[in-house]
Amino acid sequence: MLYENEKRILQEAHLMLERYNLAAYTSGNVSLRVDQHVIIKPSGIPYSKLMYEDMVVVGLNGEVVEGNKAPSVDTATHLHLFNHLDWARSIIHTHSTFATVWAIMEKPIPVLCTAHADVFGEEIPIAEYAPVGSEAIGKSALKALRKSGTVLLSKHGVLIIGTSVDDSLKKAIFLEEVARVSYFSSAWGNPTSLSNSEVQRLFDQYKSKYGQR
Ligand SMILES: [Zn+2]
Repeated sequence: MLYENEKRILQEAHLMLERYNLAAYTSGNVSLRVDQHVIIKPSGIPYSKLMYEDMVVVGLNGEVVEGNKAPSVDTATHLHLFNHLDWARSIIHTHSTFATVWAIMEKPIPVLCTAHADVFGEEIPIAEYAPVGSEAIGKSALKALRKSGTVLLSKHGVLIIGTSVDDSLKKAIFLEEVARVSYFSSAWGNPTSLSNSEVQRLFDQYKSKYGQR
């Protein structure tokens, strides 16, 4: 079997989506790029039944390299992004509730709290509506995408691009948290955003000083 270890990492990542309430039943998916291949969730398999052996390996043009199941319907979206972003190693797509509320309202998420500045360093942009199942979502996401590698998909959900599975997972979890606190504070009143210079300062500081060296 190709990429057994990577498939196990992906299975665990999908279970994390469920544990953090970011995905329901069969929605959402995580992919991982290894060289010229992308490993991705099979289509329509609920998380409780998802086995690592079921993960599908596809080439960068979408041909199935290994796997008995059909790959996720969002595979074309993932491939479009991997084909255009050298640094991308893992992509997550979810319909996580609060982030999707912002996507439905077609409002970028402003930088209202320090955690947002730390992890994303900018407001979360929104991509124009595009239908599921072709490269259209990947194209519109690419147009809207900036440095955070995170984008809201109009009337749909979110796409998160990371340098590793851990990186994309972390951003997916923080995105929902940020979307939630920003939703409640915006529902309460009209919160002001952090200044651009403070957002940049926090972002740089978080990269260089946070966590274990
Ligand atoms: Zn979706």
